[in-house]
Amino acid sequence: MTDARPLAPGSTIGIVGGGQLGRMAALAAARLGYRVHIYCPETASPAAQVAAEATVAAYDDRERLAAFAQAVDVITFEFENIPAESVRLLAERVPVRPSWRVLDVAQDRIHEKRFFNDNGIATPPWREVASAADLAAAVEAIGRPAVLKSTRLGYDGKGQVKIGPDADLNQAWAAMGAPVGVLEGFVDFAGEVSVIVARGVHGEVAVFDPAWNVHTDHILDTTTIPAPITAAEADAAVRIARTCAETLGLVGLLAVEMFLTRDGRLLANEMAPRPHNSGHWTIDACITDQFEQFVRAVCGLPLGSPERHSDAVMRNLIGEDADQWLDILRDPGAKLHLYGKAESRPGRKMGHVTRLVARQR
Ligand code: AMP
Repeated sequence: MTDARPLAPGSTIGIVGGGQLGRMAALAAARLGYRVHIYCPETASPAAQVAAEATVAAYDDRERLAAFAQAVDVITFEFENIPAESVRLLAERVPVRPSWRVLDVAQDRIHEKRFFNDNGIATPPWREVASAADLAAAVEAIGRPAVLKSTRLGYDGKGQVKIGPDADLNQAWAAMGAPVGVLEGFVDFAGEVSVIVARGVHGEVAVFDPAWNVHTDHILDTTTIPAPITAAEADAAVRIARTCAETLGLVGLLAVEMFLTRDGRLLANEMAPRPHNSGHWTIDACITDQFEQFVRAVCGLPLGSPERHSDAVMRNLIGEDADQWLDILRDPGAKLHLYGKAESRPGRKMGHVTRLVARQR
């Protein structure tokens, strides 16, 4: 269903997924006077804790999905890996933003890379692999080092195997643990950049400044704004994100992650059609943050200014890092965000802290 009219405050936004992205989106929605209904399989999820309503059910439970669609005015996602059939069922009943086309491209690394390349956006060299024999041929073509990634359901380095000079390819294939993968050339990058773009129901676009991301053990550690890149590199990064949003006909938010090579080229790595960890700095440093922008786009409202009023460094609190909450609060300039997760596990995103500095122009 499509309807370009603005959804009035007081309406209910359905969000599929119950993690911290849904939580921060629900808080932004509440600030604008909306109700949020979370749909996810986990009980007492971070998002449900701050939402008006929650359905706890599987992503393929047709009855519960239909009831959810009945209870809300628009549906969006903070978690994009839900089955096509479920999205179709929801979209028959209520506007779903972004559309299945956007989710489909972002759910699968091969669809994503084809999409980038078809639209003139460079990626690391890649090959689809469906067997150990394919892998050997792909390594022959691309060379080592390389990374083997599962095409679906991979995040934060899960389902990824690095193929160094001595790696055994049969073992690497078994370790990846999925029926289809993609082999990518390993990029000796100067850094990683992401751009988050919002696109509204009438095609209007607002872009946040490019962010500079440092990962540790495949998980985002820090995001720094402004990114230490040239104006030409920043323009190119923004152009890539805009092209993706416009070509996909996105309504909502899209984060595009890229590698910056040592010779100044941008290679797209992946994209996510939702708020993104590398945009958390916007909560404290921008006129309109990524979560409010997401709500505005999904509800058909005018987009807000993405301008940043401060420079910022955002640090993720992973696992036990969050035990330092009191020390962090003792720094009066630190903005602490915790996600309400009862159990801390190694590698689990428990919260983040943003520190602002006056903006350098
Ligand atoms: P991904 O799940 O694809 O975002 O990968 C997580 C992180 O692993 C990236 O942000 C990079 O730090 C690293 N990584 C992934 N793919 C590559 C690659 N082809 N070359 C170098 N580093 C990579």
